[in-house]
Amino acid sequence: MASELEPEVQAIDRSLLECSAEETAGKWLQATDLTREVYQHLAHYVPKIYCRGPNPFPQKEDMLAQHLLLGPMEWYLCGEDPAFGFPKLEQANKPSHLCGRVFKVGEPTYSCRDCAVDPTCVLCMECFLGSIHRDHRYRMTTSGGGGFCDCGDTEAWKEGPYCQKHELNTPEIEEEEDPLVHLSEDVIARTYNIFAIMFRYAVEILTWEKESELPADLEMVEKNDTYYCMLFNDEVHTYEQVIYTLQKAVNCTQKEAIGFATTVDRDGRRSVRYGDFQHCEQAKSVIVRNTSRQTKPLKVQVMHSSIVAHQNFGLKLLSWLGSIIGYSDGLRRILCQVGLQEGPDGENSSLVDRLMLNDSKLWKGARSVYHQLFMSSLLMDLKYKKLFAVRFAKNYERLQSDYVTDDHDREFSIADLSVQIFTVPSLARMLITQENLMTIIIKAFMGHLRHRDAQGRFQFERYTALQAFKFRRVQSLILDLKYVLISKPTEWTDDLRQKFLEGFDAFLELLKCMQGMDPITRQVGQHIEMEPEWEAAFTLQMKLTHVISMMQDWCALDEKVLIEAYKKCLAVLMQCHGGFTDGEQPITLSICGHSVETIRYCVSQEKVSIHLPVSRLLAGLHVLLSKSEVAYKFPELLPLSELSPPMLIEHPLRCLVLCAQVHAGMWRRNGFSLVNQIYYYHNVKCRREMFDKDIVMLQTGVSMMDPNHFLMIMLSRFELYQIFSTPDYGKRFSSEITHKDVVQQNNTLIEEMLYLIIMLVGERFSPGVGQVNATDEIKREIIHQLSIKPMAHSELVKSLPEDENKETGMESVIEAVAHFKKPGLTGRGMYELKPECAKEFNLYFYHFSRAEQSKAEEAQRKLKRQNREDTALPPPVLPPFCPLFASLVNILQSDVMLCIMRTILQWAVEHNGYAWSESMLQRVLHLIGMALQEEKQHLDSVTEEHVVTFTFTQKISKPGEAPNNSPSILAMLETLQNAPYLDVHKDMIRWILKTFNAIKKRRESSSTSPVAETEGPIMEESSRDKDKAERKRKAEIARLRREKIMAQMSEMQRHFIDENKELFQQTLELDASASAVLDNSPVVSDMTLTALGPAQTQVPEQRQFVTCILCQEEQEVKVESKAMVLAAFVQRSTVLSKNRSKFIHDPEKYDPLFMHPDLSCGTHTGSCGHIMHAHCWQRYFDSVQAKEQRRQQRLRLHTSYDVENGEFLCPLCECLSNTVIPLLLPPRNIFNGLNISDQPKLTQWIRTISQQIKALQVLRKEESTPNTASSKNSENIDELQLPEGFRPDFHPKNPYSESIKEMLTTFGTATFKVGLKVHPNEEDPRVPIMCWGSCAYTIQSIERILSDEDKPLFGPLPCRLDDCLRSLTRFAAAHWTVASLSVVQTHFCKLFASLVPDDCHGDLPCILDIDMFHLLVGLVLAFPALQCQDFSGISLGTGDLHIFHLVTMAHIVQILLTSCTEENGMEQENPAGEEESAVLALYKTLHQCTGSALKETPSGWHLWRNVKNGIMPFLKCSALFFHYLNGVPSPPEIQVSGTSHFEHLCNYLSLPNNLICLFQENSEITKLLIESWCHHIEVKRYLEGERDAISYPRESNKLIDLPEDYSSLINQASNFSCPKSGGDKSRAPTLCLVCGTLLCSQSYCCQTELEGEDVGACTAHTYSCGSGVGIFLRVRECQVLFLAGKTKGCFYSPPYLDDYGETDQGLRRGNPLHLCKERFKKIQKLWHQHSITEEIGHAQEANQTLVGIDWQHL
Ligand SMILES: [Zn+2]
Ligand SMILES: [Zn+2]
Ligand SMILES: [Zn+2]
Ligand SMILES: [Zn+2]
Ligand SMILES: [Zn+2]
Ligand SMILES: [Zn+2]
Ligand SMILES: [Zn+2]
Repeated sequence: MASELEPEVQAIDRSLLECSAEETAGKWLQATDLTREVYQHLAHYVPKIYCRGPNPFPQKEDMLAQHLLLGPMEWYLCGEDPAFGFPKLEQANKPSHLCGRVFKVGEPTYSCRDCAVDPTCVLCMECFLGSIHRDHRYRMTTSGGGGFCDCGDTEAWKEGPYCQKHELNTPEIEEEEDPLVHLSEDVIARTYNIFAIMFRYAVEILTWEKESELPADLEMVEKNDTYYCMLFNDEVHTYEQVIYTLQKAVNCTQKEAIGFATTVDRDGRRSVRYGDFQHCEQAKSVIVRNTSRQTKPLKVQVMHSSIVAHQNFGLKLLSWLGSIIGYSDGLRRILCQVGLQEGPDGENSSLVDRLMLNDSKLWKGARSVYHQLFMSSLLMDLKYKKLFAVRFAKNYERLQSDYVTDDHDREFSIADLSVQIFTVPSLARMLITQENLMTIIIKAFMGHLRHRDAQGRFQFERYTALQAFKFRRVQSLILDLKYVLISKPTEWTDDLRQKFLEGFDAFLELLKCMQGMDPITRQVGQHIEMEPEWEAAFTLQMKLTHVISMMQDWCALDEKVLIEAYKKCLAVLMQCHGGFTDGEQPITLSICGHSVETIRYCVSQEKVSIHLPVSRLLAGLHVLLSKSEVAYKFPELLPLSELSPPMLIEHPLRCLVLCAQVHAGMWRRNGFSLVNQIYYYHNVKCRREMFDKDIVMLQTGVSMMDPNHFLMIMLSRFELYQIFSTPDYGKRFSSEITHKDVVQQNNTLIEEMLYLIIMLVGERFSPGVGQVNATDEIKREIIHQLSIKPMAHSELVKSLPEDENKETGMESVIEAVAHFKKPGLTGRGMYELKPECAKEFNLYFYHFSRAEQSKAEEAQRKLKRQNREDTALPPPVLPPFCPLFASLVNILQSDVMLCIMRTILQWAVEHNGYAWSESMLQRVLHLIGMALQEEKQHLDSVTEEHVVTFTFTQKISKPGEAPNNSPSILAMLETLQNAPYLDVHKDMIRWILKTFNAIKKRRESSSTSPVAETEGPIMEESSRDKDKAERKRKAEIARLRREKIMAQMSEMQRHFIDENKELFQQTLELDASASAVLDNSPVVSDMTLTALGPAQTQVPEQRQFVTCILCQEEQEVKVESKAMVLAAFVQRSTVLSKNRSKFIHDPEKYDPLFMHPDLSCGTHTGSCGHIMHAHCWQRYFDSVQAKEQRRQQRLRLHTSYDVENGEFLCPLCECLSNTVIPLLLPPRNIFNGLNISDQPKLTQWIRTISQQIKALQVLRKEESTPNTASSKNSENIDELQLPEGFRPDFHPKNPYSESIKEMLTTFGTATFKVGLKVHPNEEDPRVPIMCWGSCAYTIQSIERILSDEDKPLFGPLPCRLDDCLRSLTRFAAAHWTVASLSVVQTHFCKLFASLVPDDCHGDLPCILDIDMFHLLVGLVLAFPALQCQDFSGISLGTGDLHIFHLVTMAHIVQILLTSCTEENGMEQENPAGEEESAVLALYKTLHQCTGSALKETPSGWHLWRNVKNGIMPFLKCSALFFHYLNGVPSPPEIQVSGTSHFEHLCNYLSLPNNLICLFQENSEITKLLIESWCHHIEVKRYLEGERDAISYPRESNKLIDLPEDYSSLINQASNFSCPKSGGDKSRAPTLCLVCGTLLCSQSYCCQTELEGEDVGACTAHTYSCGSGVGIFLRVRECQVLFLAGKTKGCFYSPPYLDDYGETDQGLRRGNPLHLCKERFKKIQKLWHQHSITEEIGHAQEANQTLVGIDWQHL
């Protein structure tokens, strides 16, 4: 259909282009009814431009629209050519000082923690970099899209509101100036006209709801039957559902369906079919039918093409308006005016209102276009921002309920603009006073929560999924309330007071609905059947926490408001608990002659709720009153007399008792929901407005009532009254052995009650309770957190409550209390408590959890022991209470308290007869300590004439009263001091007694004169102390020794694997010291060591014994014995690759014989170095396999290793392995028995070998042509002259045992399988090549690592590496014995022919395209296959040496050919040396041979330097290779790092120091060889510049350079859009650290098919870039991602740290991040060492959840 339309459309296009914009505009200028004229124009042209076919043509449509529709408008507006008109407007404009840049998704935004008014104030990167805030404490986040830069908004910043760019105009903008003055009257009038028409048109068409009918004034004369089937986005259906449905409904391919689905998701709608009405209707019904089964169906409309056309143009128009107003602030103001002008229908009829009210009906794309227009117009104009804010507030309730019922995310809703409006302080204030915004928001919120119980409280039980969904959306209203309150008023007007208090009333109504919600009853007998819903209520509480705090902050600012609020709150509380005594039996309690009336109420039997927001708000306000002056100056203003302390304390007390009972195990049957609630009640997120306030409320109550009464009520609520009111009750209840549980329960309850009393007296660090300020409060929190252990910054932040600005106030005090310790290569920076702060430690700090408390206690005692102090942890000295709370301290010396103390001490004294606990006693001691500290302070502060009323010391000296006649508390303490069973508390009791004495002394002396403490008894004591201290010190030493021994023992007991894991995880720590094993090679006298050739240093045979890690048996490595194997891991590698675009396309046909020097795909072998018997391993592997199969059948679990692919974990170190390497003796010694002195020279040797090869080739040919007569055949063989001593019919016997042979095959096949990614086939001729290749590649990669780290070649290598290289080399050398002899010979011939050409091999690669080290290894290791048939006396060693020389020569030529690209260096002054002239001569030869294509002769010095540098890596690799092959120890010189060791290497390798001599010595043949090399066509092409070649030395690959500042990465990624879905922003931009490619990860759009499976962009990339292994940085998350294969992956700590030495995975904290070079190097090292896969394996073993992640979709 499309193609038929094409020519017609083109014809139309041509005719359209003939219209002139100027003419049209001219017509419009003349028009009497402009609106009609323009509408006619649009009605005619829009359908001709847009929507001409099934698919949009954006470029063409845009071009035509500009020409025909927008052009005329621009002409009209300017009254001249807009190309001149607009620049003029722009020039006349005084540009705004607001930046207003609208953020893209993922763009970095910055906020200043010092200067931003609230955290929603942000800057774009450009403004930030030009602002003063870059040196402040800033926070960085990535934008979720929407929102704009606040640069230039003076209300957003306390300081520095302008960046350099936007500052320029500030002096001019003294006062608001009407921007219209810069425009001429004409322009104003015309702009007004055109804007009014166009804006109205856009609004009308976008909100148009009919599907086949246009507005009357746009209706066309003739109408085609062309429709679109339009599919709309919703958040209910998944991608898969949509894709599947579309394939069915419109018959498209999966790819098209994905395209449709992606666009629908992005733009909110997409036409999926074009055609006549029937055709579209049909598709619609299929879609609806297919998606309506479980959920509501997808929204589909069949729309007439002309409507869609107009809507598309409407969107275009809105963007156009947005760009036009950018030219001038005046134009912008006109647009605002047009938009807000009330329409003909009165209220809510302006264009802006119409758009807002239709928001939830519009599709995503339309919404974001008009939201952006609003942001760039209404929100950028100060005058209209206000008017718009009013419109927004007026529509608020409607917009919110639209949003709640809509299913789009908040960022796509107009409601989301609230953050832009409400956070502007002046606007918020205005909206509160003029529009009563607070009340509106709260009422709207309440309106959405309709479920209430009989008492009118919220009820969340049995919430359906839909309601829960709605509830989540409703919470955004709380956020709005927060925005409104976030900036506090600096000045109060009566209006503001009134409206705030009105809002406060509404807020109290809200809290009232929460007071007592979710009540619970203790479950006895049976467990609860279903966990009750508790999360909704807590979510509400959590979300409101900041709002409640902010309400209090507002109240605190104005006394009048505070008093009113207090009264209102009290009234509501009284309503809530009005008559809480109703229907209850009053009871009377009495102890020690005091009695009080209360109600009978048991937490354990009746309903109790944890939600008491009204009480807690009142507590908060009470503290504020206490802080203010009113309370003291005008107490009559306060309703204090109305307060009934017993009523105030009742509910908070119940709540605390509930916690105590839960702790005592009494509520076990109520399940986890209760445990969770108690947890959150104390949690840092909630406690400020829950637990903390309950404590305050009790403090308030105690300070207003008789402490004895309070204590009795408390005893009664704790259900402990009986125990303390009945003498000897304790004795009785302990004897009831049958109720052990009850005893235990009561003990815990008593402990908890004492703890509560400690808190009531001791917690006075909230300003208003005690005489402290906010800094003291935060300091104390930090001190106590750090008393537990040193902490990282983030850990500390997490443990402190944040305010609405996400600030904890920590930075201001941290320096005063802690030292910072920088992090090392791992770990984080840590804060450590300063020692002098330890004295402020309070063991019973109320924010400690139980675990924290015991940890802190242990840590503090340990510290004291280390400092050789006694281990008492006495209560710290406390600040005084504020006057309103001052009487609270009397609780400590109240009769009931003393009675409780005495009773418990009594139990402890008669310790056998009673049920008591040490913690109980410890708490009593702490309380006594607190009382003593209190008394001491009173003595300190009291002025002479006053009498100290706090007389605790006197009271505890008195014995108990009848009838008990118990001894005094003091006496009991003295008794307990020596009790052997209280050893731990001895120090504390001693401290108490000492303090008591000191106070007593002071009291006695103060009556005469204020003398300082008398020294007498102290002196006396000190000698005793000394003695004691000495004993203690010795005991301490003994203890430490004991501890050390214990530690060592447990260390030894730790699982063997654990121990070794650590050892081996440090993989290639090359500076390993003791473990190094070079020394196990035999000691040879210090003659010159030679690694190869006939002159090879002879090494005495060494016997090697190894132990199997599985059966622990020791065995010698011998040719004929059972095979011993090393666990090994073979992997493909591109670590050394110089060409990442190259990879093996068809592995079945790939010929790996010659490795290209770009090393684009190698095979690496690694090993953990653990040795097993081959049969032990086999058995182990079989069992792993069987277990895995069973497991997979049972539950389809993944493991970190893939058994089907032969993977297993080393049984000792759990290192990932996929095969084993056999251990062998040096294989050359086995075959190289005879050593004849008379060996051929190179030339002669080459000739001999060539002859042998020729003979073989003839033979081979004969064999392959069997059709010729056999007689003739044999004739030929006879005719063939076999070289002397060559016996091709001879087949040597394989010396190895069966088991070793089997392992040779096993490892060979594994290398072949993994290296080529093919199915295993041990017969494949490529198996030996892969073995040699892996050997060569592994040596090369290790040589690179050593060079990069400046390590000596033969320095101490870690065992595992040494073992691996030795076994690998020897294996590769022995492998030919299990391969077909003729196959290996063929390989040798072909390899040999690449250097010494023969007639048989035509198209061999040229020497530029051969990696010489791979060639060397191949030739040397294949050579025995030929040599074994040679009985002429040429030794293997001779062959090795000649091969080595030959390859070295080829390499030198290769280097010379490729190194001449750089410019001629300066001429050396010195006379040319021997080497230089030699190399110059050689170069000249090359010059000749290449037909002078080679560049002009550079200097000899230059050439020699190139040769020397270029050949070094090759020499080093060769030295390693021959060292491991022949076992000749390395010369000691090369074992240390230092100079390049060129000479030593040459000596070791039996090379002349002047390498060029190789050519001179063999001049007869070298000339021929060089000629043949240089005549290759590829060499010519290279020299003529037609192709590239690798030059030497090859540089090591590095990971890409990362920027120092992380935000520049974020910025880079935010500019990155998905390469597949046309300019769409990528959601998870991910950077390949190997090649620097940015990928669109974890998203449908970029999934591709790989080996029949859909994989994400990252996985796909690893296949081309890292042959399956990848290292990525997920930019939005700041997380390093390791991938290997499709199923393996892990996250790794990123190389970016904040100033506190911490990483920020997930970018949650937003601190500035900087590159840590060392950590990045560590990642690079892992890569170089091929340890990524191993790292993933270890991570997955340690964290099983990693195994379940769908790595392939990333
Ligand atoms: Zn900006
Ligand atoms: Zn700026
Ligand atoms: Zn700042
Ligand atoms: Zn064994
Ligand atoms: Zn191991
Ligand atoms: Zn994509
Ligand atoms: Zn890459």
